[in-house]
Amino acid sequence: MSFKKHLKTLRLEYRNSRGKKLKGRYIVIESDDWGSIRQPSLEAWEEQKKKSPKTEDDPFFHFDCLESNYDMERIFEVLSKYKDSTGNNPVITADYAVANPDFQKIKDSEFKEYYFEPFTGTAERYPDSGRLLALCAQGVSAGIWKPQLHCREHVQVGRWMSALQKADPEIIWAFEHRMISTAETVEPDNHYGYMDAFNYSGYEELNLEKLIADAVKLFYSLFGYSSKTFVASCYVWNDALERILRKNGIASMQGSWYQWIPSEKNHGFFEKRVHYNGERSGHQLYLVRNCLFEHSLFGSENCVESCLKQIESAFRWHQPAVISSHRVNYMSRLVPGNGETGIIMLDELLKEVLKRWPDVQFISSDQLADLYNREN
Ligand SMILES: [Zn+2]
Repeated sequence: MSFKKHLKTLRLEYRNSRGKKLKGRYIVIESDDWGSIRQPSLEAWEEQKKKSPKTEDDPFFHFDCLESNYDMERIFEVLSKYKDSTGNNPVITADYAVANPDFQKIKDSEFKEYYFEPFTGTAERYPDSGRLLALCAQGVSAGIWKPQLHCREHVQVGRWMSALQKADPEIIWAFEHRMISTAETVEPDNHYGYMDAFNYSGYEELNLEKLIADAVKLFYSLFGYSSKTFVASCYVWNDALERILRKNGIASMQGSWYQWIPSEKNHGFFEKRVHYNGERSGHQLYLVRNCLFEHSLFGSENCVESCLKQIESAFRWHQPAVISSHRVNYMSRLVPGNGETGIIMLDELLKEVLKRWPDVQFISSDQLADLYNREN
C-alpha cells in the first residue's frame, strides 16, 4: 500500500471512530441531483469539447443529464432483486432538485427576471422522461426509492442572473443550449460553475428564506409528503440555511465529511468545517457520507472493492455505512455504457454486501435520522 493510501485509510478510521455509535448494521445509499438538468445532449457536449479542453476532463459534463424513464427502471430492477434479513429491499435516498430555470420566461424578460419550473415541466421536453414522477411514486410504494430535498434548482440564481445580465459569452452560450454552465465557467472563485445553489453569505438571508419555502412547498406538491432531510448542493451552506431549514420542518443535513461555508471576507471562497455521523448543532443533526460509490467520477476499477472496504470500516466503528452515489453514475442518455456500468456495479455491490454482512439492514436517510433521534 502506498504511503498516501495508507494515510487515507487511517483518516477514514479516525473519522468513523468519532461518529455516534448505533446498534445494528445499516446501509444508506444517498444519490444527489435527480430532476436537475446538466448536459442536454451529446451534440452539445461535442460542441463544448471543440470550444474548451476542460470539457473532456469533467465527468459531470460528459455523462450527467436529466434522468430518463429507462434509467430509473434499470435501477429499480436491481434494487428489487435483493432483500435484507428483515425483508426490506435496498432503498436509494434520491435527493431532488425540484425545479429548473424556466429558460423561455427568463429570455422573454430579457434576463431581467428569474423564473423556474418544476422538474416535471422540464422532463416533458426531454425524450423518454415523461413518466419520471409516476416512476417515483412506484419506487416509493415499493420501498426502493425515497425522494428527499437537494435544492429548488441546482443554480446560484443571483450570480447566474448577474452573469446573464452582463452578457458573459460563456453563460449566454450555455443558456442558449438550455444549460446552467459549461466546464469553461469553472474558475477558482467560481468553483462549482454556478451550481452551488446555497452559496450565500449572511446578508443575503432573505433570498434563502424564499428559496427554501418554495422548495419545501414544491417538494410536497410533487411527492405528497415533506422531506425530513436535506443535502445542500455542492456541500456549500451556512448557519442561516440550517436555521431556515429547521423553520421549514427539516432537522437533518445529509452531507460529506466537509461543509464548505461561504467566506464573508473572501468572496467566492470557503471555510471548511468537519462533521461526523450523529453530530448535532443548534438546528440540525448531521448525517455523513463515509463511503463512496462513484464509478463515473473516480473510475470503475476497484469501485466495488473500495466501497466494500469503506463499509467495513464504518461497521468496525458501529457506524452506519452511508454511501454517496450521485445520479451521474446511472445516466445512459449521453453515453449508454456509463449507465450500464453503474447498474452492473450496483448489482455486484448489493450482492456482495448481503454475502459479507447477512444481518445488514437497508434504510433511507430519513430513517437513519429517526434512529439517531430515538437513541438520544
Ligand atoms: Zn448536487
